[in-house]
Amino acid sequence: MNVFESAGVDGLIITGATNRRYFSGWSASDHAPDRPTGVMLVTPTQRLLYASSTNLSWAASEARPDVETRPISGLWQPVVARDALSLGLKRIGFEDAVLPVASHRELASAIGSAADLVPLGDTVDATRRVKQQHELASIRAALAITDEAFGRAATYIREGMNERALAMFIDQQFRDLGSDGNAFETIVASGPNAAKPHHTPGDREIGVGEPVIIDMGARVDGYCGDLTRTIWVGQPTEQLGTMYHLVADAQRAAFAAIKGGAEARAVDRAARDVFQAAGTEELLLHGVGHALGLRIHESPFLSQSSSDVLEHGNVITVEPGQYQAGWGGVRIEDVVLVTSDGYENLTAAPKLLGE
Ligand code: ZN
Ligand code: ZN
Repeated sequence: MNVFESAGVDGLIITGATNRRYFSGWSASDHAPDRPTGVMLVTPTQRLLYASSTNLSWAASEARPDVETRPISGLWQPVVARDALSLGLKRIGFEDAVLPVASHRELASAIGSAADLVPLGDTVDATRRVKQQHELASIRAALAITDEAFGRAATYIREGMNERALAMFIDQQFRDLGSDGNAFETIVASGPNAAKPHHTPGDREIGVGEPVIIDMGARVDGYCGDLTRTIWVGQPTEQLGTMYHLVADAQRAAFAAIKGGAEARAVDRAARDVFQAAGTEELLLHGVGHALGLRIHESPFLSQSSSDVLEHGNVITVEPGQYQAGWGGVRIEDVVLVTSDGYENLTAAPKLLGE
């Protein structure tokens, strides 16, 4: 079923940067939600991309061959509405997750009673779940840079180095290796800071034997990499070694549950069961994984509240963790391609402790 059938519409108005890039190939981001750099009108046979005259040649140079670029000045709503109606569209989908209420009001008044505006919900996002070959190539390239930058960071880390210095080193490696930028802000969390899944690197100095969680992702052609490793300087404390093995076991259990047709919840459960058996389920503070692509967090999501079903062609992270307030934590994250009978691990960064 294509996106028009699943959404029950005959055209789409695309205003968010992610789906605009997905449908057009144009890399522009938006400065603010109410000021989209470009707007698209997509039908089963046409892809129109509207941009200001300032950005039009940029848009045209990056847009795929089947995309027609059109200039716009002033408000986009009257122009896009006029074109949509002249194409005879009757049910026009819009991105209700990203279109501001005021912008929608303007669009609705321009459309009037000539057509229905239909909220798309997650139908467009759902079409991005199964990756195309060119998307997979970009994700693989982002992961290769991420793995290489991690390898360099693991060699560079020293006792007494502060978190921010290590994070900046990683970001510099991304640039040197050809990354477009970061998929997200690099996380370096040492010692007690490793108990916070989303720690912002600061001036804390890394000590011997304590956990250092590094979560990092390069970006290629807009596609995200994502990698977490927990490492240490010198020998790990006994508590760190024990927790590390437990998290690695949980990750293996999750891997074993992955295949096309599997419930995302069951993969999360498989990892969770390992912690439950160890009496530490409450130290897992997040779902066990998420898909990635043009966005770092996409559906399907691996969590107990997820109703997603995995499909061949999904690209998901598997990242169980344990977080002990006041002490620290361990997270290990790989990215895998879901196949019909299992998965292919796309992450090559080494794990320590012989994993
Ligand atoms: Zn991550
Ligand atoms: Zn992740």
